[in-house]
Amino acid sequence: MRLPEFDLIQPSSVKEACSFLKEHDGKAAILAGGTALLVALRYRLCKPEVLINLKGITTLDHLTWNERSGLAIGSMTTLETLERSPFVLKEYPSLVQAAQLVAVPPIRKKATVGGNLCQDTRCIYYNQSDLWRSAQEVCFKRGGKVCHAVEKGRRCQSVYQGDLAPVLLSLGAEIKIASANGERVIPLAEFFTGRGERPNILKPDEILIEVQIPPSGQGASGAYEKLRVREGMEFPMVGVAVMVKKEIHGKIEQAKLVLGAIGSSPIEVSHAKPLLEGKKPTEDLLQSISKEAMDRVHPVENLAMNANYRRKMVGVLVKRALRRALTMAA
Ligand SMILES: Cc1cc2nc3c(=O)[nH]c(=O)nc-3n(C[C@H](O)[C@H](O)[C@H](O)COP(=O)(O)OP(=O)(O)OC[C@H]3O[C@@H](n4cnc5c(N)ncnc54)[C@H](O)[C@@H]3O)c2cc1C
Repeated sequence: MRLPEFDLIQPSSVKEACSFLKEHDGKAAILAGGTALLVALRYRLCKPEVLINLKGITTLDHLTWNERSGLAIGSMTTLETLERSPFVLKEYPSLVQAAQLVAVPPIRKKATVGGNLCQDTRCIYYNQSDLWRSAQEVCFKRGGKVCHAVEKGRRCQSVYQGDLAPVLLSLGAEIKIASANGERVIPLAEFFTGRGERPNILKPDEILIEVQIPPSGQGASGAYEKLRVREGMEFPMVGVAVMVKKEIHGKIEQAKLVLGAIGSSPIEVSHAKPLLEGKKPTEDLLQSISKEAMDRVHPVENLAMNANYRRKMVGVLVKRALRRALTMAA
């Protein structure tokens, strides 16, 4: 499949990129590593007239750690840089685990953190060629009025399959967004809309420029578990991110559990928090959290794996991730 025609603009500053985005008012797309966008263009899933390449904006490629403010990751930092960083591994092991599980090394060399968070939702009925899709009635994601994954469904059920977002949410990350009007910082939790048609809140003239993660603190650790069809180049069919903080007597002081690849945005299992916090971790406790998480998710048949199996694996992976995080926090 050939790429469609487009103009390429190479700005050298965020300000310049924002003004180009404003000038092209919804007809431009941001190009970071291109690992997701170029596939989408070949499949004609989007048809921008102009691509704005962020590669020349060197200020967006940084990874800085400070004991008081935590970690700042420029949006053009590659996943390869992230997974090879010794201080990210020491402070946020779950983030390295998630980065290492994205696709394969040649993709991670190009793929960026910003592109990973801003990637579109996916569905077996949508991520197909133009020709394949033309044989089907137009679905919600393409502006139509049907969902092929759920009979008589009333909304788009495409799935957000990014690996980094669940982990960053479990770590309490915030993001910095720039536009022609200036910059703003918002919690990452407010970035996702939960709507398959438009998975994040970015306006056409906005760029995600930085991810900020607070210091994890003593006794804290995290883990990420991923279910995929093959142990190769695969998007998650389920992703489980856990963050736990233990106090000196071994009780769980803080906990956060976030699931990915279940719905149109990552989902925090908020019921897990009160069940875990203030308790000593026992096998029974892990079992009840795993059941709680499994009971609360309802994946549908929209990916290349049976939905009921994905639901059951939520329970298995939650227990596995909790065990790993608790061992490391100890
Ligand atoms: C074979 C294959 C396997 C993959 N496996 C996985 C996987 O296992 N897990 C996973 O999470 N992903 C996977 N991906 C998707 C993709 O490679 C990654 O998500 C990657 O991190 C995207 O980053 P990028 O820099 O290449 O983004 P791009 O492709 O350049 O952009 C992706 C989207 O984000 C937008 N965007 C990029 N940067 C910004 C920004 N700073 N501000 C606003 N919008 C922006 C673009 O306009 C585009 O819509 C896979 C892709 C392929 C082709």
